[in-house]
Amino acid sequence: MKNILITGGTGYIGSHTCIPLLEKGYRLTIIDSSVNSSPISILKVKEILKDNFKDELITYYPGDIRDKPFLSSVFLKAKELKKPIQGVIHFAGLKAVSESLLKPLDYWHSNVYGSICLIEEMLKYGCRNIVFSSSASIYESSSFIPILESSKINPSTPYGQTKVAIENILYSTFKSSKNSWRIANLRYFNPIGAHESGLIGENPLDIPNNLFPIICKVANGKIDKLKIFGNDWPTYDGTCIRDYIHIMDLADAHCAALDFLLKNEPQIINLNVGTGIGTSVLDLVNKFMKVNDCKVPYKFSERRKGDLPFIVADNQKLTATLGWQPKRNLNQMCKDGWKWQMANPNGFIDIN
Ligand code: NAD
Ligand code: UDP
Repeated sequence: MKNILITGGTGYIGSHTCIPLLEKGYRLTIIDSSVNSSPISILKVKEILKDNFKDELITYYPGDIRDKPFLSSVFLKAKELKKPIQGVIHFAGLKAVSESLLKPLDYWHSNVYGSICLIEEMLKYGCRNIVFSSSASIYESSSFIPILESSKINPSTPYGQTKVAIENILYSTFKSSKNSWRIANLRYFNPIGAHESGLIGENPLDIPNNLFPIICKVANGKIDKLKIFGNDWPTYDGTCIRDYIHIMDLADAHCAALDFLLKNEPQIINLNVGTGIGTSVLDLVNKFMKVNDCKVPYKFSERRKGDLPFIVADNQKLTATLGWQPKRNLNQMCKDGWKWQMANPNGFIDIN
């Protein structure tokens, strides 16, 4: 049974990814500083898996990946217990794009320095398999065709720049050590929704900036109105188009990427993780209202600085390489996201 280190494992994508990993028979070591999440998500993951879960399969260490003695102790402990860490899925980092414009140094420090600390410890303990959470925000999307992995890289924010820097660090690490590393940079598009149980979901500790959690908060009356940023974009309804992917499809893609790396020769691979389907802001709002039979009042406002009209993945490399296909459609994303929101209007705060 392979022991996989999940950095940022109590967060939104991390907690959902734990489910298929445990179902596939991996043992998990989770590290999280709780800067944007709650360890309650781990209890909920256990609840979702119920009888199929043995407590010993998850070990959780609260802490920061930039704390090198702490990180080293996690690798050492796993080694001493004869369950060495054999792979890493690296989610830990700060992710609010607009905040990164205001606090760029926090982003460079947490994301880039944190990743360097992690890679150094991996080297020290002979673990050379890593799946990294990259982002579609690294691309310069100037056209209306789906983005390929080979499309131009030119991030417009410090957040995106940190993701490029980490990909570059991983690339030079790969090149420097006689190609002994197995590395997958997963460039996510727009993950939304929640696990179908409604027990875990997106739990931002601050006011959300992303469209889907804001729609949920408008629908349950916590925010008055959704501001739609621009209705004069050159798209079919004037609002921006994105590639929304169900969080559990994204979780499955991580599992598939890890399996792929562990079964194949050392390599570094970049993969777009999206559905390849474009949805406008208005499409998403209308779908959410229809599927959930609720109201999402909105008004049009100014374009958001730095927005782009069309960001959709060409996911052919992903589907061909991993044999992965998205299984859940926009209806399911809206239904599951709303279920989580209705059951947990304040996220994990109310749960003890
Ligand atoms: P999240 O904030 O829910 O999860 C990140 C987790 O990392 C949190 O639990 C946080 O507490 C933890 N963390 C942050 N800094 C840490 C540190 N220095 N040490 C230890 N733990 C730390 O965000 P998410 O949506 O689950 O995103 C996971 C990863 O995916 C991030 O790297 C993010 O940049 C990337 N990503 C997310 C999206 C998205 O839309 N959600 C899109 C593209 C890429
Ligand atoms: N958006 C919006 N109102 C909001 C938040 C987002 O109209 O309050 C729009 C935003 O302009 C973008 C789309 O929704 O076109 C998705 O935004 P999000 O921040 O979720 O993802 P990203 O733009 O980073 O892909």
